[in-house]
Amino acid sequence: MKKIQMVDLQSQYYKIKSDVDNAILNVLNTAAFINGPEVKSFQSELETYLDVKHVIPCANGTDALQIALMALNLQEGDEVITADFTFAATVEVIHLLKLKAVLVDVDYDTFTMDSEKLKAAITSKTKAVIPVHLFGQCSNMEEILKIAKEHHLAVIEDNAQAIGSEFTFSDGTVKKSGTMGIMGTTSFFPSKNLGCYGDGGAIFTNDDELAHKLRGIVNHGMYERYYHDEVGVNSRLDSIQATVLRKKLTLLDNYNEARRKAADYYDEAFAGNENILTPKRAENSTHVFHQYTLRILNGKRNELQQFLAEREVPAMIYYPVALRKQKAYFQESNDADFVNTDQLLEQVISLPMHTELEEEQLKYITDAVLEFMK
Ligand SMILES: *Cc1c(COP(=O)(O)O)cnc(C)c1O
Repeated sequence: MKKIQMVDLQSQYYKIKSDVDNAILNVLNTAAFINGPEVKSFQSELETYLDVKHVIPCANGTDALQIALMALNLQEGDEVITADFTFAATVEVIHLLKLKAVLVDVDYDTFTMDSEKLKAAITSKTKAVIPVHLFGQCSNMEEILKIAKEHHLAVIEDNAQAIGSEFTFSDGTVKKSGTMGIMGTTSFFPSKNLGCYGDGGAIFTNDDELAHKLRGIVNHGMYERYYHDEVGVNSRLDSIQATVLRKKLTLLDNYNEARRKAADYYDEAFAGNENILTPKRAENSTHVFHQYTLRILNGKRNELQQFLAEREVPAMIYYPVALRKQKAYFQESNDADFVNTDQLLEQVISLPMHTELEEEQLKYITDAVLEFMK
């Protein structure tokens, strides 16, 4: 049996090696390393895939979040609401821009922002909300967009983990994740569902004016060459990454389907074990399983991780610490407001999840988990 890894990028690469190698060689031969035609082509192909008017490529998913916030022209001290249970980048950029991060609890079953908690956290200083589509499915965008509209809040979707997932609104409208708020952001970090072979990211919007502004911000605040209208950043996707992404975009739906199949296998194997809660699939969102995350109810999550490690099955705790309790972002808070987050920190464990999992490996993993949990 092939060695089990959390993410197996090498096996995935071997299946597309000749296409990718040729594409990279082509970039080397044309020497258009920055802002070349590959970046333009990828941008427009992603716009078509997402059915969104503008994709603005940038250097990574953290930059994408920062640049999206910069485009809103917020004032120091303005409040931005996001989830307490997510990867740190989301809250990091809020702090970096000297805005106030207001963290709220998540839903226990979907790991995404609890919209009731969002409502309760809104003040006269709240200007934006960043729902994070954690582990591969959309936050409850219908509720979040409704609340945001009532309170005139900008919605930036952190779509780093859910690209390709779809949300169905109650009127039947279906939209791709990242295209529902005023802006959406994503990361092309290698292990993400659409990953390149280095760093990359992008911002999505249907708003022409915002798109123009974002294109300036990523390029030193420059709208006309050597005229700097505002303070921007330097954040680019390079041509080698873009050419890899063009190839992988054509396979994204297949890749997400392969993840879903692995998730189905896991779900079936663990069904009926009273100490294992499998990830709930939201009714109105498809799931692209960036992570497959169990909740372990018998208090032995860490022992399970150790047991699996001894059998060479990697498993990770995403995430072990609430953002409100991190040293860098610490804030006084009432634990009673974060019951779900605090419970999840103790219970979650993510199993290997990628596009190349073989049945033999899935059987080995699930047998090991069940042996410990019997
Ligand atoms: C990966 C990730 C990011 C950051 O992306 P980078 O490309 O690593 O900067 C932001 N938010 C979430 C939820 C992520 O998973």
